[in-house]
Amino acid sequence: MHIADDAPLDNTLGLPCRAARLVAATTRDDIRQALAMARHDEAPLQVVGGASNVILPARLPGVTLQLACDDWWWHAVDEQTVQVHAEAGLSWHELVTACVEKGWWGIENLALIPGQVGAAPIQNIGAYGVELADVLEAVHVMYREDGREEVLPREACDFAYRDSIFKRSLAGRVVVTKIVLRLSRRPAPRLGYGDLAQRVSTSPTPHEIYTAVCAIRREKLPDPAVLGNAGSFFTNPVVEASHAERLLQEFPDMPHFPQPDGRIKLAAGWLIDRCGFKGQRCGAFGMHERQALVLVHFGGGDRPALLAWAERIRDAVQQRFNVVLEREPRLLG
Ligand SMILES: Cc1cc2nc3c(=O)[nH]c(=O)nc-3n(C[C@H](O)[C@H](O)[C@H](O)COP(=O)(O)OP(=O)(O)OC[C@H]3O[C@@H](n4cnc5c(N)ncnc54)[C@H](O)[C@@H]3O)c2cc1C
Repeated sequence: MHIADDAPLDNTLGLPCRAARLVAATTRDDIRQALAMARHDEAPLQVVGGASNVILPARLPGVTLQLACDDWWWHAVDEQTVQVHAEAGLSWHELVTACVEKGWWGIENLALIPGQVGAAPIQNIGAYGVELADVLEAVHVMYREDGREEVLPREACDFAYRDSIFKRSLAGRVVVTKIVLRLSRRPAPRLGYGDLAQRVSTSPTPHEIYTAVCAIRREKLPDPAVLGNAGSFFTNPVVEASHAERLLQEFPDMPHFPQPDGRIKLAAGWLIDRCGFKGQRCGAFGMHERQALVLVHFGGGDRPALLAWAERIRDAVQQRFNVVLEREPRLLG
């Protein structure tokens, strides 16, 4: 376990932040000790992974726990199926790369999503028509209140679009320590999203799809190392069918996606673009010139200014379309 007081905390939005006490935990015992430390000091505790989906304050009080356990292993379930165990501190993209190199199918569409394995189930990460829930078998957690451990099967995680039990009844109550995935050796390409199919051969390998996804992402999304951002800043709103019909009468070109429950998912980026924010800058913040859904930080800004800019966008979309946008990155501290 490594403990640093008043430590800087890097985050992809590039907001300046210092953690009062930053604890890097490499084992489950370390995690348990960090939880006990916070309880003993009656200090607030927050868990961060790669800090790619959080909006940090200038100072994080109490204990900030960052997982550094990054091992992974696998075993064959049968001739076609492999079970992959990955510890929470491993980089998600490293895990995807390793599985793709073995020729396994299942997470190749989720390449290049920043952050750690332990954060992946929190919002059920998804991209290019695939979600973590499609391949997840179980999530291992440790309860913050008493260090108790439990294995939650997928059905217990209540996964939905960018949502899970970890954002609802288990929010702030558990640390994810490990996830278990079920991947396949049998070809199962999922190419229905965007122009993915045009970028690969007719019988692609997982590696081909992985390479195409990485290329598309690099073309479309700003690199946080160059321009601060947290990926999509708002989730795509889901509205009642009658509401979508009214909007379609006024905006016939509006992208819309019927959901299994009869409601309609709208594209938040399109709504923001139609309010004129794409490529617009306001002080230290703006919306990206190629992707209106990505809020960018040009440097020198802080959390209050970021939230004020996000509020302006939310208000404009609500006024024009009567649709309320939900923020995707979480506020910590
Ligand atoms: C350029 C860019 C592109 C992105 N593209 C996508 C995308 O395509 N699809 C997508 O779904 N997301 C995307 N994201 C968002 C982000 O990468 C994911 O949400 C990722 O899973 C966050 O991982 P993290 O380790 O950085 O988590 P953090 O930002 O550190 O934390 C996010 C939340 O998870 C909690 N948390 C983290 N680790 C644990 C743990 N071990 N136990 C309990 N709670 C934990 C934190 O407390 C916080 O509430 C993108 C972000 C960026 C910057």
